[in-house]
Amino acid sequence: MPDAGGGDTTTHNTDVVIIGAGPVGLFAVFELGLLGLHAHVVDILDRPGGQCAELYPEKVILDIPSRLKITGQELTNDLMAQIAVFKPEFHFQEIAVNIEKRENGRWLLTTDVGTRIEAAVVLIAGGGGSFTPKKPKLERLDEFEGKSLFYAVRKKEQFRGKNVLIAGGGDSALDWAVNLQDVAAGMTLVHRRNEFRGMQATVDQMYGLVKAGKINLEIADILRVNGEAGQIRSVTLKSAEKGEYDAPCDTLLPFYGLTMKLGPIAEWGIHLDDKDRIPVSTETFETAVPGIYCIGDMCAYPGKLKLILSGFHEAALMAHACFHHARPNQKLRFEHTTSSSNLQEKLGVAG
Ligand SMILES: Cc1cc2nc3c(=O)[nH]c(=O)nc-3n(C[C@H](O)[C@H](O)[C@H](O)COP(=O)(O)OP(=O)(O)OC[C@H]3O[C@@H](n4cnc5c(N)ncnc54)[C@H](O)[C@@H]3O)c2cc1C
Repeated sequence: MPDAGGGDTTTHNTDVVIIGAGPVGLFAVFELGLLGLHAHVVDILDRPGGQCAELYPEKVILDIPSRLKITGQELTNDLMAQIAVFKPEFHFQEIAVNIEKRENGRWLLTTDVGTRIEAAVVLIAGGGGSFTPKKPKLERLDEFEGKSLFYAVRKKEQFRGKNVLIAGGGDSALDWAVNLQDVAAGMTLVHRRNEFRGMQATVDQMYGLVKAGKINLEIADILRVNGEAGQIRSVTLKSAEKGEYDAPCDTLLPFYGLTMKLGPIAEWGIHLDDKDRIPVSTETFETAVPGIYCIGDMCAYPGKLKLILSGFHEAALMAHACFHHARPNQKLRFEHTTSSSNLQEKLGVAG
């Protein structure tokens, strides 16, 4: 699992800032790259692929043109390989919270950790919305959130020497229990059942670490979080075997899965339809706000199908349409990759 860094204070400059590293955002990097436009990509997830990687990495997709079958993760890997030549810059584990138009006519996008990206064009490829952690149904969580309770691991080092309690039974809970136990002072994994939903290899690894005394596994329900002034001291657990008891810890990481929410995009003054999707022109994929484009599951137009292949088509049209925003003084020529030495050079296959 990548250990993505936090934001930085410099302002990045690029042609297009893309919100969403789902399949459609990734393919947009390719279509923009063919036209010589560079992109930065922001996603709240810690890896690319959007729904494909997060919701169905091992399921087989059967309707990607020319691919007889391909899993969600394989499609993501291949898209990443295809766009590598264009050197997009990714900002994972960051949520795009604000955009503003600058006096120079360009957009400034800011993320929740303060990363600033200035671009000629904003491209929203936000799909079903930003993946947001599901919170446990416990009281007093807000007292500890961001201080000693976290829903994501941004930097492994943050947890060095901590007495960590991870709650959950899926991939994230297992991955981080396994990956943090070597830096944490103590690691407890709490799950309500002795059955885990993660990949078998990680489940086996976790049980191995339990046997080696490096992870303390508790099969129990969480009843309460205890502590004061933002600092967790313990979590009260309950199990049929042990009754009610306290598990000491100073850091709580609940990993109860993710849900998709439109999030900050709803506050940007862009017209939304009654299903919270963004209406666009089908010629350009521009929204009602000049310079802001939208493609993929989040855009709306008559006949829209929420399919990956539709998003790919939308990416090609969007790239050609937004070119004039980024390069107002340049003419755009339509070319095929098979016959254009210009495109072949960009793709590094000229010969
Ligand atoms: C179980 C399942 C099976 C499917 N099977 C198929 C199939 O067989 N064939 C097919 O064509 N389609 C299938 N789909 C649909 C397909 O996955 C979607 O059409 C596709 O993922 C849309 O791509 P996207 O890039 O538009 O959005 P998404 O994949 O939703 O990616 C959007 C990304 O944007 C990020 N994001 C949103 N807002 C923000 C923000 N403010 N800041 C930071 N990040 C943000 C999200 O975290 C997410 O990673 C399936 C979907 C599901 C759930």
